[in-house]
Amino acid sequence: MMQGDIDLHLHSQSSDGRLEAGELVRHAYRCGVRLMALTDHDTTAGLAAAAAAARQIGMDFVPGIEISADWRGRTVHVLGLGIDPEMAGLRDGIRRLGVERERRADAIAVRLDAAGAPGSEALAHIRATAPMVTRTHFARRLTELGAVRSLAEAFDRYLGCGRPAAVRSAWPDLAEAVAWVCAAGGIAALAHPMRYTLSAGARREMTGEFRDAGGRAIEVVCGGGSATHLQQATLLAHRYALYGSIGSDFHDPAVPWNPPGRLAKLPASVRPIWTDTMFPARFN
Ligand code: AMP
Ligand code: MN
Ligand code: MN
Ligand code: MN
Repeated sequence: MMQGDIDLHLHSQSSDGRLEAGELVRHAYRCGVRLMALTDHDTTAGLAAAAAAARQIGMDFVPGIEISADWRGRTVHVLGLGIDPEMAGLRDGIRRLGVERERRADAIAVRLDAAGAPGSEALAHIRATAPMVTRTHFARRLTELGAVRSLAEAFDRYLGCGRPAAVRSAWPDLAEAVAWVCAAGGIAALAHPMRYTLSAGARREMTGEFRDAGGRAIEVVCGGGSATHLQQATLLAHRYALYGSIGSDFHDPAVPWNPPGRLAKLPASVRPIWTDTMFPARFN
């Protein structure tokens, strides 16, 4: 497997991606990806359709998820790669995440309304058209309604950390999210480790706790990450003896600067997660 062919972090319409799961697989294939993981936020609903599409075009497919978790009051994301979505521990966890998402969506709508943006109107539309509610859905609908000009503005003005519609989420603890992935036979990988607003010391502590909880890998190469980020994530992989993963975090084909599979190489000093022993590449 050539490294340029691998992308282990992509989103479909089952969470906040633009493409239906099968369409996403075909899009990734057209972009040159030959081993991919579907990692929707807090759901496995797209995995069956994605696996079927991958089988049809002869592409290696890894069933995955990106779990929202809490570490000391901050939201962090745990990738589960190679999971069995039928396992009870993970299924119960996903149910809990869904309940929290619904509660949070209501609270976000109320806050948006109070801030003078059409939150309830947006939420009604999202619930009528999408299988789950994420802040991305709010940002898109607010853009469509003309309340903001772009997703970035929606987050800057309303939905981002410290903004009027930021709602504290009761996500499961980091260790619990890792446990769900392990219970489902998957490998837990810490997603985009440099994207969290943390001091270097806190980031190391978080990574250490992730590893102590059973986490095995870290996303060293991320879509949109800088060379400095890559360097620092590499140091974390070394320090905590974690395997390295790479992923674009692709959501939307209309965003031309982050297509599937166009990623930097994993540094040679980091053991890739997709080796045969860790990761029998073929799940479909
Ligand atoms: P949620 O899991 O509902 O909190 O939504 C988080 C999602 O919002 C992330 O996975 C991103 O896809 C998206 N997101 C977060 N921050 C931004 C931003 N500044 N601009 C665009 N999308 C963002
Ligand atoms: Mn997202
Ligand atoms: Mn994420
Ligand atoms: Mn993601």
